[in-house]
Amino acid sequence: MGGKGKNAASAELEARLAKEEQRLSGLSVPLLAWYDRQVRNLPWRESPAAYRVWISEIMLQQTRIEAVLPYYDRFMRALPDAAALAAADEDTLMKLWEGLGYYSRARNLQKAARLIVEQYGGELPADYQELLTLPGVGEYTAGAIASIAFGIPVPAVDGNVLRVLARLTDSDEDVMKPAVRRAFSSLASALVPADRPGDYNQAVMELGETVCLPNTEPDCAACPLADRCAGRAAGRARDLPVRAAPKERRRETRTILVLIDRGENGSRTVARVLLHRRERKGLLSGMWELPGVEGELTAEQALALAGEYGLPAKRAVRLSDGKHVFSHVEWVLHGWYMEAAGTGPCPSGCVWADGESLRESYALPGAFRTYTGPLPGWLEGSGPAEDEQIPEQLTF
Ligand code: SF4
Repeated sequence: MGGKGKNAASAELEARLAKEEQRLSGLSVPLLAWYDRQVRNLPWRESPAAYRVWISEIMLQQTRIEAVLPYYDRFMRALPDAAALAAADEDTLMKLWEGLGYYSRARNLQKAARLIVEQYGGELPADYQELLTLPGVGEYTAGAIASIAFGIPVPAVDGNVLRVLARLTDSDEDVMKPAVRRAFSSLASALVPADRPGDYNQAVMELGETVCLPNTEPDCAACPLADRCAGRAAGRARDLPVRAAPKERRRETRTILVLIDRGENGSRTVARVLLHRRERKGLLSGMWELPGVEGELTAEQALALAGEYGLPAKRAVRLSDGKHVFSHVEWVLHGWYMEAAGTGPCPSGCVWADGESLRESYALPGAFRTYTGPLPGWLEGSGPAEDEQIPEQLTF
C-alpha cells in the first residue's frame, strides 16, 4: 500500500475497476460463444435443478471435476433430493462422502437439507439472499445456484474468477485481502449479463480451469478474451494474481494403531479392526478413525496402550510412515499393526469392524489412507510379516 491509507487505496482500486468495467463490458459475447463451442457435458449441467447444482458445487470445492464425478453419481442415486438427504443417517452420509475430504461440507449439506425441508417445502429457495442463509452456502455457492438453476443475474466469484479478472485488469492487488475481493466481486457483478447468467458464470470458471491456468503460463492463444486482456498485453499474466504467502501449517506427529481381532465364527476365522469415533468437534469431527495418539510410540508403548484399551496384543509390527496435509495442520503418521490376544469388551467410543462393514458402513477419512489402503488385505490374510513395511507406493 506504500504510504497510502487503507481507505484511499481501496477507493483508488474501486475507481480503477469502475473504468475497467466500461472497457470490459460486452465480454460475455465472445466468452459465451467460446463456451458454447467447447462446453463439457457434466451430469449437473444436463439437468441443472437447484438440488443437483448445489450438491455439485459443494463437492467441487477443493476437489477436481474428475474426482467428483463418481461421487456425484453415487450420491444422486442414494439421496436424489433434499428430503432424502435430510433423512439420511450419519454413517450413510459419511460413507457417500468417504475420500472426498472436508467432511464438514457433508454435515452442512444435511443441516441445510433439513432447513430446506422444514422451511421451503423441500425445494431450494429461488433467492440469492435466502440461499446465503443455508449452512455451508457462501457467496460463491449462492451465486452459482441462483444463476445456474434460477437464471438470476448474480456473479459466482471463486479463485478461478478472481484469477481471470486480475489478469484481464492487470491488477497486482493481493486478492486474499477482503477489500480487494469485494472490489473484484463488484466488477464481476457488473459484468454478468441478464441473459444466460448461469452459462456466463460457468464460462468464466471453465476459462479459469482450462485456459487461464493458475501458477503457469496461461494459454492466451486459445483465449476468447485475449484482445481485451491487460495482463497479457503487459506480458505478466502468469504472475497474476498476487497473493500473500499462506501461513505455515502446524505439524503434528501421531501414532496410529491398527488393532486386529481374529476370532472364530463357527468354522470360519473372522478378522475385525478396531475403529474409534472422533470427538464431535474440531478436525474430522465425529468421523470414524483408526485409534491413535499424539507423538511417536515405541513398540512397547504401543503394546501398553493396547493394554490400556483392555485389549492386550500379541505382537506389534512397525508400519510405514504416512503423512496427511489438512488446510492448517499437517499430520506425520507412524503406525503399528497389532493383534489382540483375546477379545475383551469393546473400549468406549469404539467398534469392531469386519471387512464387509468396513466396505459398506464405516467411512474412514483419507488421512488414514497409508493404513486403510492395505487394511482389507490384512483382514483377509494374516497381516504384515514381522517388520514388513507397506510398499513405498502405498505411502504418500
Ligand atoms: Fe487469461 Fe491469457 Fe485470457 Fe488473459 S488472455 S484472460 S491471461 S488466458
